Amino acid sequence: MTEARAHNAFIYITEKCLLDCDYCFFKDKSKGRVISWDVFRDFYCWITQRPAGGPACFEFTGGEPLLEWNLLKKMILWVRKDSRRIRIGVQTNGILLDEDKREFFKKFRIAVEIGLDGRQDATMSHRKPLSARLYRMILKNIKDGLKEGLDISCTMTVTPDAAASLKRNFDHLKRQGFSDIDVTPAALCPWNGAEKRLFRREYAKLFSRPGRRNLFVQDDLASLPGPFLDLSLHPPGYVCCGDVFLCLPEPVKKRNSLVSFTKQGVELNRHAYSYFLRQYEKRFRALNGAAVYRDYVLFSFDIVKALNKGFSKGCDTIMELLTFQKYQHQNEAV
Ligand code: SF4
Repeated sequence: MTEARAHNAFIYITEKCLLDCDYCFFKDKSKGRVISWDVFRDFYCWITQRPAGGPACFEFTGGEPLLEWNLLKKMILWVRKDSRRIRIGVQTNGILLDEDKREFFKKFRIAVEIGLDGRQDATMSHRKPLSARLYRMILKNIKDGLKEGLDISCTMTVTPDAAASLKRNFDHLKRQGFSDIDVTPAALCPWNGAEKRLFRREYAKLFSRPGRRNLFVQDDLASLPGPFLDLSLHPPGYVCCGDVFLCLPEPVKKRNSLVSFTKQGVELNRHAYSYFLRQYEKRFRALNGAAVYRDYVLFSFDIVKALNKGFSKGCDTIMELLTFQKYQHQNEAV
């Protein structure tokens, strides 16, 4: 693999967040930095002009991207002006998703993805300091947005204590009217054997439901053509291979960034670039070209494991919870 197509371009516009979820693995959140306009513009030019082609999607995330509303709008308008067709998404906790923001997203066809854990009690116990009032406000923002015709999906995080109520929480979110619900286990939490088995069983049950929508990063999609990479821009200007790299401590992220955007200009790290291409290539090859996006995410956990020893248990947990044999574990004993 000499070059790989970019699939998603994640832009971690800010490290600031309104919440402090106990399972968050965004290592540098406390630094509170923001991607500068110049860095974003240089990144955009670089990623759209790669010989392997530009990304299929720009995903703006954080931290909480709506905290940098003016900058976010400017970035979205820049991307939309360049391409009317490209998919643009914003990941948010939904607290700041007011009428003005919804109207802007609707006008520019932005897909909104909200992070929630399910019912109020499940969400409030880990997404802190979320109050009952704020939880209700998020649900209202979602309801109004859906009524206005906005494309809103959800990422549901499952913690070990909520494994048994996965279905209950999922059904609660389904009733809110989301277009899709991605279910993902909280990697940093301490899972015991019984909780892992419960998660796998409940997940497999959901997966085998008729008419189900996407579960965990589009794992029911057909395989994507050819090898691909996610490219994620992290403050202040490092480029890594996707959101899993959020867990890396700053010096490791810096050392392993494929490209760095600084005031001095653009610096390509050829060593890191060929190292990661080789790592992904080897894993893609093992699946004989039949990889779906979900496999890519699991490859990333596997690769990151060697770079951040402190996160290796979390990587093992995710791989154990999500490596199913054709999702045929409905009868696994708990
Ligand atoms: S809302 Fe997201 S970025 Fe913020 S603390 Fe929670 S998981 Fe982390």
